[in-house]
Amino acid sequence: MIFTAAGTPLREAERPELEPGAEQVRLNVQACAVCRTDLHIVDGELLDPKLPLVLGHQIVGLVSGLGNGTSRFSLGERVGVPWLGWTDGSCRFCRSGRENLCDGARFTGYQLDGGFAEQTVADERYCLRLPESYSDLEVAPLLCAGLIGYRSLVMTGDAERLGLYGFGASAHIIAQVARWQTRRVFAFTRSGDTEGQRFALSLGAEWAGSSTESPPEELDAAIIFAPVGELVPVALAAIAKGGVVVCAGIHMSEIPSFSYDLLWGERVLRSVANLTRQDGEEFMRLAPKVPVRTQIREFRLEEANEALQHLRAGELHGAAVLKIG
Ligand SMILES: [Zn+2]
Ligand SMILES: [Zn+2]
Repeated sequence: MIFTAAGTPLREAERPELEPGAEQVRLNVQACAVCRTDLHIVDGELLDPKLPLVLGHQIVGLVSGLGNGTSRFSLGERVGVPWLGWTDGSCRFCRSGRENLCDGARFTGYQLDGGFAEQTVADERYCLRLPESYSDLEVAPLLCAGLIGYRSLVMTGDAERLGLYGFGASAHIIAQVARWQTRRVFAFTRSGDTEGQRFALSLGAEWAGSSTESPPEELDAAIIFAPVGELVPVALAAIAKGGVVVCAGIHMSEIPSFSYDLLWGERVLRSVANLTRQDGEEFMRLAPKVPVRTQIREFRLEEANEALQHLRAGELHGAAVLKIG
């Protein structure tokens, strides 16, 4: 099954070919988690996707073919394919340990075909070894929801009181990591989403409410997972002096103008972009220690569009995962 950027299944999968001499592996896809970024691509909010495109960048697969430049994996081994699919290794960002910002980067399920398919091909240098204690379905959401959330959490430094705006796939993972690090978690959902608020409390948040509410006390940092620009001044107003607001999404609606008072006091507003391989390796070591437990809702590959619809409607608590293998 191939999905175009319009989200329509086009044709049965053809066996993806390995480029001669490339460090590529072919994978039998077992599971692929669904991310909000997939929706942004389908909706045309991210420009210039490869077309036609197979979506999906949280791929769990078993190695079924080895290119003649490969050396890392063996046939049958389980690997994860994240969003960062390729970098040039030569630009000033790559040369300074910031491959997440690479000028020439190619992303899985965006500029490279992804994992809403029975088979895919990936550059082995960007694949991750996955912790064995997780099933294919459980581990898939760690590959973006977990990874990008983790990078965002690191950007909050040692903030003790952490606000999470938008309690979806990423937040449900990062709340567990934050609690394990003995931070205090405050969760913000869409107004009226009492089920989402209960879910956040069950994962260790000490307070959960609507994003229109003020938290019971000042926060030291906030991560905005919801793609809603209006939340930026809201989160800035909720943090203490010296605090940081991290925008974790790849796309956000327009940010309304706001008074300088909200930024004053050495508050910091920043985004988080993509991931480095080091983030991936660190997080895959960390997740089983916590241990992070992912709550998943399973869909079949043919139901990929339904999964996207549920995500769009905000009806998922946890992560949607396509079971493929
Ligand atoms: Zn993603
Ligand atoms: Zn580069």
